[in-house]
Amino acid sequence: MSLEEFKNRNVGEQSYRMLDLEHTPETGLGKFGQVAKRTVKGELFVGLWVTLREMKNALFGGKMHTIKYPLEKLPISPRYRAIHDMLRLLESGHYRCIGCGLCEKICISDCIKMDTRYDENQRKEVSEYTINFGRCIFCGYCAEVCPELAIVHGGRYETASEQRASFSLFEDMLTPIDALKQQKEFDGFGAVSPNADENIKKTPLAY
Ligand code: SF4
Ligand code: SF4
Repeated sequence: MSLEEFKNRNVGEQSYRMLDLEHTPETGLGKFGQVAKRTVKGELFVGLWVTLREMKNALFGGKMHTIKYPLEKLPISPRYRAIHDMLRLLESGHYRCIGCGLCEKICISDCIKMDTRYDENQRKEVSEYTINFGRCIFCGYCAEVCPELAIVHGGRYETASEQRASFSLFEDMLTPIDALKQQKEFDGFGAVSPNADENIKKTPLAY
């Protein structure tokens, strides 16, 4: 291929679209005219029409696509692993945690710290319980391992904090006693499956 052929390879109407370059205006008025010509085109009014149509649908047609966060919040999936809640027994109102310590042991971030003591009736009670949400990775193991469904993942998902360590105490996560009636049984990560009763089998006699 000669140099001339090389330079002209694939150049042609089939392969390239040649730009129709306009004359560059020299005067201010000419430049303004060019800007106005390029700016005000039919597409601009189509875009404005779409905007106004969607605004009318949102304001008067009940088709709002956004919510007023934080006053409104979108529902989250029950399996979402949000900030923990501590549940109470619905019958007595006492907290469900029996202080077994499994959640503390399984926590891979080592962010649960708890302690127990004996009360005046020699029953074990939780004396201290904290979760450091600066370390927690929301893996859900603690909710998965809890035998009492005491620690669960709730619906609060705002985990931002001004401090690297942000602790939550047992009382912060515990259902307020006056809100016990609104406490819902957890159906998310680590919860008992709806058909759990059907899966229970008798222990074989040989065992
Ligand atoms: S969600 Fe995971 S990291 Fe967070 S407290 Fe539970 S076990 Fe620990
Ligand atoms: S929250 Fe559950 S796993 Fe953790 S100590 Fe209490 S009963 Fe045990």
